[in-house]
Amino acid sequence: MADFEYDLFVIGAGSGGVRASRIAASHGARVAVAEEFRVGGTCVIRGCVPKKLLVYASSFAHELGDAAGFGWTIEGAKFDWAALRDFVASDVDRLERAYTNTLDSNKVEHFHERATIAGPNTVRLASGREISARHILVAVGAWPVVPQFPGSEHCITSNEVFHLPELPRRVVVQGAGYIAMEFAGVFNALASQVTVVNRSDQILRGYDESLRDRLLRITMARGIDYRFNSPIERVEKQADGCLHVYTKGHPDPLTADIVLVATGRRPKTDGLGLETAGIALGANGEIPVNEFNATSCPSIWAVGDVTDRVQLTPVAIREGHALADNLFAGTSRTVDYSLIPSAVFSQPPLAGVGLTEAQAREQFREIKVFTSDFRPMKNMFAQHAERGFYKLVVDAATDQVLGVHMIGPEAPEILQAVAIAVKAGLTKEQFDQTIALHPSMAEELVLMR
Ligand code: NDP
Repeated sequence: MADFEYDLFVIGAGSGGVRASRIAASHGARVAVAEEFRVGGTCVIRGCVPKKLLVYASSFAHELGDAAGFGWTIEGAKFDWAALRDFVASDVDRLERAYTNTLDSNKVEHFHERATIAGPNTVRLASGREISARHILVAVGAWPVVPQFPGSEHCITSNEVFHLPELPRRVVVQGAGYIAMEFAGVFNALASQVTVVNRSDQILRGYDESLRDRLLRITMARGIDYRFNSPIERVEKQADGCLHVYTKGHPDPLTADIVLVATGRRPKTDGLGLETAGIALGANGEIPVNEFNATSCPSIWAVGDVTDRVQLTPVAIREGHALADNLFAGTSRTVDYSLIPSAVFSQPPLAGVGLTEAQAREQFREIKVFTSDFRPMKNMFAQHAERGFYKLVVDAATDQVLGVHMIGPEAPEILQAVAIAVKAGLTKEQFDQTIALHPSMAEELVLMR
């Protein structure tokens, strides 16, 4: 067998790459990882983690407003964007150090420079050094897609939104997916004027229609404007620095301080040298892999967003872990992609697992749908009358719960727990046999009749 410098060379120190590195090293493999930006990847550095901190921070605006109904007088409350931004940045620094320590304590060597593939067993670092490895794992993630229109260079993406010099007064968000709805909620809560513009007539494609409808109505009531079937046609920068945003079918421009484009993310494979190992990319630039994350080159593997299957951190982590076990611990594990719970940290948040009502109607002969449309107790004394909505989708023939969909306070936290029941294949009757935990919102899950 040829002698390689490393048993595993990982390109990309994000969620999937770091997990694979750590586990492979714990199995005794000689592992190195290269990262051109910062250790931690999208989720830690410019995604899930800093986004969630902004969601928490901005939701205080509602909480402070609601507090009056509970007897509190809060005088002089004010918000400081720079303080929040810098706090978030320092927490990202802390997490990056923690991820780096994980690599160090597992004796994973790391290179802070770009690496590309120079052959089936060869990686080339930006410095020019070539390194040989028995296995190469590509875990470089994805990158925001910005549709081309005149003035698109004036727009920002989720990469830049965490570093704004000041809180924008007027925000236009292009797209109505995860990132768009989460940041629309953040800026709306922080009292910016927010307009969401989307190419289609819907938000959050893929989620249950009842949740999407509820979120749309609540966010409109909270002051978010929408322009549907109206993608951006051009953006013009004005002398005073503000942006005029022209969207399809609307002769009058929107005026904005920032335009956040959130129209999906594409695998970051440009210039990666995959062709030197005979790997052909898929239509969206993704690396095609089989269920073991094997590419068409026997020594090269890929996990996470770069494979463009499910762009979620916990999925990348599972894939990276399974691969490391398979390569260095003799297992033959695959990742189960069924019933993956997911959430949108909009305000209010929504979450779901399993089949939506529409999907279940297509796939099953007869289904039963149970819903609960309720006013969360905490909202009772508040000025707003926002209601939560839960839905159970059940196979009429077997009584098995096929899907659970929730919008309302803490929906993602509750959904994670109920996803275990759905994954376990429990029936509606078994849900009903569980005694309610009162008073809670989650009790609705066992009280729907
Ligand atoms: P999404 O795929 O969620 O949404 C993309 C949005 O952009 C849709 O509204 C879509 O419209 C619109 N769109 C797509 N292409 C174009 C185009 N060419 N021109 C105009 N509009 C377009 O992407 P995001 O960027 O929001 O997020 C990327 C991924 O990151 C998500 O898919 C998710 O996997 C992950 N993510 C997960 C989060 C979470 O788990 N909470 C949070 C943030 C991101 P339409 O669908 O109406 O056609």
